[in-house]
Parts: sequence; structure tokens; C-alpha cells
Amino acid sequence: MKVLVLGAGQLARMMALAGAPLNIEVIAYDVGSKSVVHPLTQQSYDHTLASAIEDVDVITAEFEHIPHDVLDVCEASGKFLPTTDAIKAGGDRRLEKALLDRAGVANAKYRLVGSRQDLDEAIRHVGLPMVLKSALGGYDGKGQWRLKTQDQANAVWEEMAAFLAETEGQAIVAEEFVPFNREVSLIGARDKKGNVSVYPITENVHVDGVLNLSTAVEGNQSVQQQASEMFSAIADALGYVGVLAIEFFDIDGKLLVNEIAPRVHNSGHWTQQGADTCQFENHLRAVCGLPLGNTNLLRPTAMINILGEDSVDNAVLKQTGAHVHWYGKERRAGRKMGHINVCAENTEQLTLSLKTIAAYLDESAFPALPR
Ligand code: ATP
Ligand code: MG
Repeated sequence: MKVLVLGAGQLARMMALAGAPLNIEVIAYDVGSKSVVHPLTQQSYDHTLASAIEDVDVITAEFEHIPHDVLDVCEASGKFLPTTDAIKAGGDRRLEKALLDRAGVANAKYRLVGSRQDLDEAIRHVGLPMVLKSALGGYDGKGQWRLKTQDQANAVWEEMAAFLAETEGQAIVAEEFVPFNREVSLIGARDKKGNVSVYPITENVHVDGVLNLSTAVEGNQSVQQQASEMFSAIADALGYVGVLAIEFFDIDGKLLVNEIAPRVHNSGHWTQQGADTCQFENHLRAVCGLPLGNTNLLRPTAMINILGEDSVDNAVLKQTGAHVHWYGKERRAGRKMGHINVCAENTEQLTLSLKTIAAYLDESAFPALPR
């Protein structure tokens, strides 16, 4: 089987690595440079998008901010999965919120804001404090504002108005501020027949809107069940095929959906070492029409994001159960450069292992680690 992935970043790279044992070949389309490249070496193939579409059996995506004209030609080939509607919903908060409402899953109260009057209406409806998010193009907490008090409304609106004027079709979604106890996500896969298999819940620590640390958590049955039910509701509403990630706020054990990612997800990287079948393999299995692989947790596992660093002390590799994954990217401040998966026999051992590893990592670059 040959698969074309829209997007040529680390997620396409890890799909290529996971597909190799199954004889699934992955090629990637770099949306920025409009070239078809090898997902590991980034070398260009002698392909146009049209010839690559012709050449492969299946087309999928590693991110949601894909120009709609590209999605449309992929859709027209009849080879695209999970469905272009899912990708569009993941890339536009207006469509995403409408999807969550349609699927009947709990999510933060919201209003669309396109004018100063709308902002007042949003304040009445969702209350203060509120979080304002750009509808298009947001990731890692970018394109967001916080509005705490009424007297900040004019200043925040002025900033947002300037932002809205920059991009055609841009909009703002105003959302109630959710006083969550923690953030969790659920990664799962749905196959062509509608069978669903989900991983254990992942607990996520974000710093300045960017994921720093994910830990696979087993044992909270009520939270796992709520997340699984919402997963099925959303995946079924979309007729989804592939791996889907859902981010939640946990408020005293009750989950609200924050957002969805119609793809493999950073908070699922732990599955490479901690689960029977990793999310990258399961995504490929689903879109290629193969049976889904078992999603059980093999052992307590955490994932540490490496942000803006291009090396770590070799002592990290010496730690039992630690696995470093680099993405082969050029170093830039704050950029996702790689991650470290850490597995242990039990949760106490995992915390100890994270502390041991943290001693070799700079606290300012790895602020979420236990020390
Ligand atoms: P991602 O990289 O996950 O796509 P994003 O930029 O799309 O991120 P969100 O996930 O919506 O943005 O928000 C980033 C973080 O900001 C969340 O993980 C959460 O910590 C915080 N946040 C977002 N919305 C709210 C809210 N309504 N109430 C409280 N905190 C929020
Ligand atoms: Mg998010």
C-alpha cells in the first residue's frame, strides 16, 4: 500500500516509520513548498500533487490547516480519509463548535464575535472571564486573547479588529473561561466498518498554551467512559476513518470537550512505547482498511516534549525505559524538536524515572517535569 500524507512534519515522519513493517509506504505533500517529499529525508520526489494523488492508494493528513483547494482535489480522487469535513472542522473553530453541538457532546459555552456589539453580547452570554480564539489557523495557544473585566473590552476589541482585518474569512469565537482541574485527551481510531478502539486517557500539562508533558492514565473509569462516549459520538457524526484526538477539560471529574484534532496527536506519542499498537500504526491500519491494532496500555508511560533544544544529555538514553525521538528539524526557539517517551513498571517508578531524567534537563526548557 502507498499512502500520501498532506503535511510533511514530524507526524508524517512517524507515520512513515510505523508503516514500514506493514509494507505501507508513506510519501508526504509539503503544503508550504507545494512539493511531494520523502517524510524522513525531506528529499523531493519527481511528483506534482496531481501525479502523487494518481500514484497512491490512500490519501490522509497530518494537520488540519490545509488549503481547501488541495483538500478538494484529494476528495475528488475518492482516496481521502478521514473525510475532508473532519479536516475542515479541525481547522475552523466555527465548524468545530457546530460539530460538537451536532454530536451532542458537552463543550464550553460560546458566541461568534465579529463586531464590538457582538463582544458585548458574548460577555452577556458566556460571562467573564472569557477566552477569545481565532477561528482559523490557531495552534499551540496562538491567536488567543483573554478578557477578564468589562473595562478591558475596548482594548481587546481593538487588537482583535486589527487581527481580523489581516486575514480574509477570519473570525473570533468567544468562549467561557473553564476553571478546569486538569486537561486530558483521548486518542482513538475508527475503522471503515465503524469499529472504534480507544487508548487510555492521557493527562496533559500545557505551559503557555504548548503541550509539555503527557502521561497515560489508567484507572479512572468514569472519566474514561465519558471520554469514550464522546469520542464515538463525534467520530460517528463525522463518519470518521482513522485516528482522532479529542482534548478535554476535566472539572471535578466531569469532562467538557475543548477541541478536536482530526489526526494523530502530540498527546498520543506515548503510544509508541506504552501501547500495544501505536497511534501512527493504527491510523495507517484504519485508512488502509486493515484491522485496528490493540490499544491497551502495556506499562505506565509519559511523554516529554523537547521544545527548542536539539540535543539532550546522553545520560537520558541510559535511563531504563527512556526513548528519545528526534524529528530531524532545524532548531528554533520553542519549536517542537522531538520527544522522550518514558516507561516504567508502575506509577511510582515512573515518577522516579521522570525525576532522574529531569536532573539532566534544564528546568527553563522543561518546566513541567517533576523535580
Ligand atoms: P493546540 O495546539 O492544542 O491546537 P490551540 O492553540 O488550538 O492549541 P486550545 O487547545 O484551544 O488552543 O487552547 C490552548 C490552551 O489554552 C488549552 O490547552 C488550555 O490550557 C487553555 N484554554 C483554552 N481554552 C480555554 C478555556 N475556554 N478556558 C480555560 N482555558 C482554556
Ligand atoms: Mg489544544
